[in-house]
Amino acid sequence: MEQTFIMIKPDGVQRGLVGEIIGRFEKKGFTLKGLKLITVDRPFAEKHYADLSAKPFFNGLVEYIISGPVVAMVWEGKNVVTTRRKIIGAANPAESAPGTIRGDYAIDIGRNVIHSSDAVESARKEIALWFPEGIAEWRSSLHPWIYEFS
Ligand code: UDP
Ligand code: MG
Repeated sequence: MEQTFIMIKPDGVQRGLVGEIIGRFEKKGFTLKGLKLITVDRPFAEKHYADLSAKPFFNGLVEYIISGPVVAMVWEGKNVVTTRRKIIGAANPAESAPGTIRGDYAIDIGRNVIHSSDAVESARKEIALWFPEGIAEWRSSLHPWIYEFS
């Protein structure tokens, strides 16, 4: 079963989209394994986005992420990482399909509401970075109603 790191960015928190976004993952059938509201500092944000440090938008991206609290989460489910584009949409909301989170709730690429890990390996790293205390161990009693084979 895959796990992914999902972050509701400061704009999503400020705009009151937390419940709506969490509801989408819940209703899909994914399992919430970690959750916290946290404001991160610059070195932390730079570490999270280290792969993008050479990009021209890097400083603006870091400013954005540290501008207010974010909701950091771990979600678990079959293919939860690989189906991310279908759920959150393309990086640029102008190219995100309606029905995706960014397609429905964002306009600018620099205010695109949500982050999700792009691969199983980066998810593992991001979960370790954001949840050094560890995450919850539990199995939803709905499991057999969501998965044919367990
Ligand atoms: N970003 C930006 N300007 C750009 C490209 C990306 O501000 O021209 C920001 C945006 O917040 C995006 C993040 O950098 O979500 C990471 O970019 P990536 O291409 O990895 O998109 P994602 O994986 O978030 O869809
Ligand atoms: Mg990315």
